[in-house]
Amino acid sequence: MRIVLVGPPGAGKGTQATRLAEKLRIPHISTGDLFRANISRQTELGKLAKSYMDAGNLVPDEVTIAMAKDRMEQPDAEGGFLLDGFPRNVSQAEALDELLQTEGIKLDAVLDLEAPEDEVVKRIAGRRVCRKDSAHVFHVTYSPPKQEGVCDTCGGELYQRDDDSESTVRTRLEVYHTQTEPIIDYYRAQGLVVTISAMGPVDEVTGRALEALKSAE
Ligand code: AMP
Repeated sequence: MRIVLVGPPGAGKGTQATRLAEKLRIPHISTGDLFRANISRQTELGKLAKSYMDAGNLVPDEVTIAMAKDRMEQPDAEGGFLLDGFPRNVSQAEALDELLQTEGIKLDAVLDLEAPEDEVVKRIAGRRVCRKDSAHVFHVTYSPPKQEGVCDTCGGELYQRDDDSESTVRTRLEVYHTQTEPIIDYYRAQGLVVTISAMGPVDEVTGRALEALKSAE
């Protein structure tokens, strides 16, 4: 399957994407993770992306689209993929359509994760991510690690992402409403959108997502 995941920051896209990709046996492609990997490797792309990310703004389309395209063209993504955090505005969605058209393939579904604003702010403020593997995500109150600051899964150090500070979160939410939300209408016009609530236990949300995706197959 070829799936796009959308939802506000803090809706749990990363967590759900990891789980869904595993169940559906498709690669999880997160542009945020790709940028963070470039930042830790201190590449030119990482240096450029960091200034935008720290401010809560979108990284320019040109580099983002090129990076996403490059990843989608890797052999493991031939049979399908789950895009997490891409596209994030209408021009990226148009670029993705063009790319898919050239390859003669189509998206199967756009999964829209809905969560109220006060909830996503709480989730982000308490979020702690593993330095070794950003798929290992904890929350100081909702899913605390056994030992504070240490990843249960691999023992890596847990940290708060630079762009998870409260002031940056406000900007990210604003950017989501003005730039990313319009892609939901863009995809609705193509009959691709399935909306589910992102509230409740992680397992329940995954179950809901899988159920919703069945109807899109
Ligand atoms: P995420 O991990 O998806 O929350 O992304 C973290 C940050 O990476 C975002 O706030 C943006 O600054 C940047 N980013 C991730 N994906 C994109 C994208 N598709 N377009 C532009 N910027 C992005």
